[in-house]
Amino acid sequence: MIKYNLICDKCKFTFNSWFSASSEFDRLKKKKLITCTYCGSYKISKSIMSPNVSRIEQIDKNKIKIKKEVRKKILEYQKFIKENSTYVGKDFAYEARSLHYDKKKSKTIYGKATQEEINDLDEEGIETTTIPWIKDNEN
Ligand SMILES: [Zn+2]
Repeated sequence: MIKYNLICDKCKFTFNSWFSASSEFDRLKKKKLITCTYCGSYKISKSIMSPNVSRIEQIDKNKIKIKKEVRKKILEYQKFIKENSTYVGKDFAYEARSLHYDKKKSKTIYGKATQEEINDLDEEGIETTTIPWIKDNEN
């Protein structure tokens, strides 16, 4: 008996299977008797991947990587906002209105607003941008 690590070409799921001989894999593959245990695809290849790297672990690693990258981008964006605009805290809606109606004032502000306040501003034609905000103390 020979044990092969197999990988699905379609979904990259890896799994193991036993074969009576090395030719058995090709024979069974031709007959479409080897299918991906995850998605059912017939497109299976012998894998050189380490069998202890499971698909779940890979997905988790990717998720963590994406989360980190997104977080980094948000923090960069936050830094930019902080350096280029004035923090008005919870007075955001009030300040945004006063800036909108008083054309003499010109500055960029950032702060907190409820979804309702944002909707109201939007109805009045006051443009706002919402970004997820990461607290500094979470760094
Ligand atoms: Zn598959």
